[in-house]
Amino acid sequence: MQISAELIKKVAEAKKVCVLTGAGVSAESGVPTFRGGGNSAVWKGMPFDQISSARMVKENLPEVWEWFDYRRGVLKDCKPNEAHRALMFWESRLRENFLLVTQNIDGLHTQAGSRNIIELHGNIQRSKCTKGCRLKYEMLPTEIPHSPDICDLCDAPLRPDVVLFGEMLPEGYFEYAVEFANDCDLFMSIGTSAVVYPAASLAEIAKKKGAFCIEINPEETPASYLYNESLRGKAGEILPKILQ
Ligand code: NAD
Ligand code: ZN
Repeated sequence: MQISAELIKKVAEAKKVCVLTGAGVSAESGVPTFRGGGNSAVWKGMPFDQISSARMVKENLPEVWEWFDYRRGVLKDCKPNEAHRALMFWESRLRENFLLVTQNIDGLHTQAGSRNIIELHGNIQRSKCTKGCRLKYEMLPTEIPHSPDICDLCDAPLRPDVVLFGEMLPEGYFEYAVEFANDCDLFMSIGTSAVVYPAASLAEIAKKKGAFCIEINPEETPASYLYNESLRGKAGEILPKILQ
């Protein structure tokens, strides 16, 4: 796809940048997206919003773990792609004036070296206590099934450190993203169907404050109308071109 010189200049000259990523940024790493029709959308006949729900943690925690361990198994051989690397490179140029907000739980941005990152929905390679104490536990990507499964402090079972359907975002994370989006001069959304709120509202905030807004997605999304430019194509192909 052809990218205009004007757009490349806009990106090069941006001083404060906020990027929002969704499942699509990891698609080229082989991580299935949900709405994009990946075969991980259904688990034993249960739609993903049912198995990945707060209710299931209460009713059948072992089943939740089975599903998340399955997803960790899918991730085991997935590596960061050109898009993850391009974003890391962009951050290294702008440092604290670059914020990456991701809805992904796969940890691939961090693996690629991104540091100014907010993992809005948590990280699949971490677990936390079901009693809600502050302790978190890292898991090795190869540690499948997970362990340990009991909190050292509370003796309560652990659950994935992921925001499930029916749960609130961890306090402070989104607020920080909003603050940043409020005074960025460039906002970019990559590989998200933009139907999951409140993440999707970040673009609205940035747009309202006058930021130049770019979307990268092979398909049109419900939020496409918000963007100054919508680049239709794959993140791993477009991003390196824009940031050349
Ligand atoms: P989604 O599955 O709803 O949408 C993915 C979007 O990516 C689609 O709009 C699709 O057109 C686009 N896409 C596909 N291939 C692409 C590519 N190569 N380059 C750019 N875009 C591409 O994902 P979502 O909007 O992130 O929402 C799903 C929710 O499920 C999120 O909250 C997320 O936490 C979770 N999820 C995470 C992962 C992950 O961690 N990798 C994977 C699936 C779902
Ligand atoms: Zn605990």
